[in-house]
Amino acid sequence: MAKKQFRTESKKLLDMMVNSIYTHKEIFLRELISNASDAIDKLYFRSLTDQSVSLKKDDYFIRIAVDKTARTLTVTDNGCGMSKDELENNLGTIAKSGSFEFKADKPADSEGNIDIIGQFGVGFYSAFMVADEITVDSRAYGSGEGWRWQSSGADGYTVTEFPSAEPGTKVTLHIKPDTEEEHYSEYLEEYRIRSLVKKYSDYIRYPIKMLTSHEHLKEGTEDEYETHTEDAILNSMVPIWKRAQSEVSEEEYNRFYREKFFDYEPPLKVVRQKAEGGSNYEALLFIPSHIPYDFYSKDYEKGLQLYSSGVMIMEKCKDLLPDYFSFVKGLVDSSDLSLNISRELLQHDRQLKVIAKAIEKKINGELSKMLANERDNYEKFFAAFGNQLKWGVYSDYGMNKDSLQDLLMFKSSDGGKYTTLREYVDRMPESQKKIYYACGDSVLKTSMLPQVESVTAKGFEVLYLTDDIDEFALQMMHTYAEKEFLNVCKEELDLSTDEEKEALKAENDRNAEMLAFIKESLGESVKKVCFTDKLKNHAACLSSEGELSAGMERVLKKMPGADGNQIKAELVLEINKDHPVAEKLALLYGSDKEKLADYGRLLLGQAKLLGGIPLEDPAAFADLVAKLM
Ligand code: ADP
Repeated sequence: MAKKQFRTESKKLLDMMVNSIYTHKEIFLRELISNASDAIDKLYFRSLTDQSVSLKKDDYFIRIAVDKTARTLTVTDNGCGMSKDELENNLGTIAKSGSFEFKADKPADSEGNIDIIGQFGVGFYSAFMVADEITVDSRAYGSGEGWRWQSSGADGYTVTEFPSAEPGTKVTLHIKPDTEEEHYSEYLEEYRIRSLVKKYSDYIRYPIKMLTSHEHLKEGTEDEYETHTEDAILNSMVPIWKRAQSEVSEEEYNRFYREKFFDYEPPLKVVRQKAEGGSNYEALLFIPSHIPYDFYSKDYEKGLQLYSSGVMIMEKCKDLLPDYFSFVKGLVDSSDLSLNISRELLQHDRQLKVIAKAIEKKINGELSKMLANERDNYEKFFAAFGNQLKWGVYSDYGMNKDSLQDLLMFKSSDGGKYTTLREYVDRMPESQKKIYYACGDSVLKTSMLPQVESVTAKGFEVLYLTDDIDEFALQMMHTYAEKEFLNVCKEELDLSTDEEKEALKAENDRNAEMLAFIKESLGESVKKVCFTDKLKNHAACLSSEGELSAGMERVLKKMPGADGNQIKAELVLEINKDHPVAEKLALLYGSDKEKLADYGRLLLGQAKLLGGIPLEDPAAFADLVAKLM
């Protein structure tokens, strides 16, 4: 019988499938199972109104079978089946359903992959990725005729009468021979089929059956084995997220989470969301209890699994999560998305954007609740993922700061424990106008900064910023509850009374020439040298003027590609006006300018050490100390 030709666009797609080196060949099984499930759906819906359909809901099934000798894999269903015309129309041309937009003009990338295959199937034809011949035997429900459709690829197909076809459809794949790169035989292995069904089709509503076999010791013998076969159902059918919340135990969630998302610990929080009306979806989300081992590696991909009515269509849909919630694991199942939507289309999908927005809000709300009601858990969460939230405040020009700022926490001088900004502000005495913070490598080092001492001495609390991102985040926020943030190491830190200010100004004026001389001898390393009254015990400290603090300078310089000469905090060397050293300096200005210059360098070095700023030339500093001794 003469072969019929596929329509042109189908032919192109077939070529692509036959020659595909796409790595997700395995999705073909998901596609065949989904088709079978759709066919059963069709018949089932018909049965609701059509008395002649005698099948009950429990009668429906999908069956997978393999024959290793013949190298065949079959997927059988007792759904609606296809007539001769339907076989021709549905399998002779692609995209009958219109859900698939074929882009023939889309060039393959360098590896020959074509993006439209992506993580999405292209239906029935994907079977040609693993099969060199496909046979479809079908009988439309209630019809007296059975038909066989057969094709070995792009050269066409035949449709012949096949009276023994059972009602429904049986798709038989003749699996390709193994090649050096590809071990097609694995699709004939029971364990592989089992795991594929679990991965992609676990929540298909009808049972996916397969005869499975395992060996066990023959009774009464020590080394004789016999094979035990059993008709097993491979899928769990009802997804955990479709069951009533009250029906699912914590243990079930934990097991599901650990298996699906490969974590060895249970999640810190399970979040469920069900939306109806505008968009229809169910979300099951998990907040992990610790940082995933690969979280900071470039292999880590954020995203949620995406299901369309129980069928997984994407393993990691990144558009569903903002970067600052990249630690969230879970899935979204929506009946509004079609199975064959391409990744490209999905990116622009309005529905998906609506879902993403709602999910973001939900996570935010859950975290706020955790902060309010489960402080210990929240602190555990924040220790692991707080940095993400701070990045969230900082990135996108601070667009999300309002929704995230109340989730932030910092350690502070109030006992060294975590505090939220709200708690800090609530504790502020009336006389305090600003929110003070200090930066350093660790809570301990930061708490010992001379400037911190002077602020806490006034009875004001200081936030300890110990992560690189911290100060950038606060600067992006600029204020919280209308209170400005101020780095205690900024020169403008001003805690004095008017009288004290005047006294200080007089002292600075009186010593203007001497201070200018020290500044001159220190060159470009500082912008200004002056006296201060904010220090108690220490002789000197370093502050900065302007936007960029010394800590920010350090962080920015670490960034790849940073221009060290461009990034420079404007440092001010502040000398304690009440320290004996101040007097000594004034004396030296009259008697020994060379020594005065050395003293200036010594004070700068000390101030840097106190402030946790690395010395540019430690050897020179050590020599200088020795010289003065
Ligand atoms: P899609 O599933 O997106 O429509 P496919 O290429 O997978 O695209 O299938 C094309 C059409 O063939 C389906 O729409 C359906 O009408 C028909 N079909 C495929 N498999 C079956 C089956 N097992 N039973 C009945 N009809 C089927």
